[in-house]
Amino acid sequence: MKIGVLALQGAFAEHQAVLEGLGAEVVQVRLPKDLDGLSGLILPGGESTTIGKLAVAFNLLEPLRAFGQQHALWGTCAGAIFLSKDVHRPQPLLGLMDIQVARNAFGRQVDSFEVDLNVPELGEPPFHAVFIRAPLIESVSGSARVMATLPDGRIVAAQQGRWLATSFHPELTRDDRFHRFFMELAQ
Ligand code: GLN
Repeated sequence: MKIGVLALQGAFAEHQAVLEGLGAEVVQVRLPKDLDGLSGLILPGGESTTIGKLAVAFNLLEPLRAFGQQHALWGTCAGAIFLSKDVHRPQPLLGLMDIQVARNAFGRQVDSFEVDLNVPELGEPPFHAVFIRAPLIESVSGSARVMATLPDGRIVAAQQGRWLATSFHPELTRDDRFHRFFMELAQ
């Protein structure tokens, strides 16, 4: 299976390593033609404004939207922001997923944290999640549904058909269950 990682900025190499460990062929996507033949695409964490501006500069916004209408997409952290329809401020977005996101909802870089999450789709044990200047998924609408919450109920993972959004960074831990789950969505 061929999976792309959007390689404009951010933690794309870490996603690539996990996917290759699972036997996927990985393509770094920087130009529209890099999307050819892919089964799915990961939008990595980083800085969503930078990723958005680079996507505009490389004429990628429309090709990414068209690809996403037909294929699996997974946005982690800044990638989840980029995938969403609403972030309360003007910045280039794919605007595909029916989630409303608050950027930097947990404070500054120093307020980054790790927590074990119950994710029913992944079963036991809980998933150890790393949050780095993370966004919060304030609400889901349409056919999007909540996949995981913090113990206080705030939403940190959502799924809408073949689209996934996680506030945290599964590529930074040794647990590859989210990547396996995404590869199944991409099949
Ligand atoms: N704070 C970043 C943003 O708003 C996201 C951080 C991350 O991807 N780790 O785009």
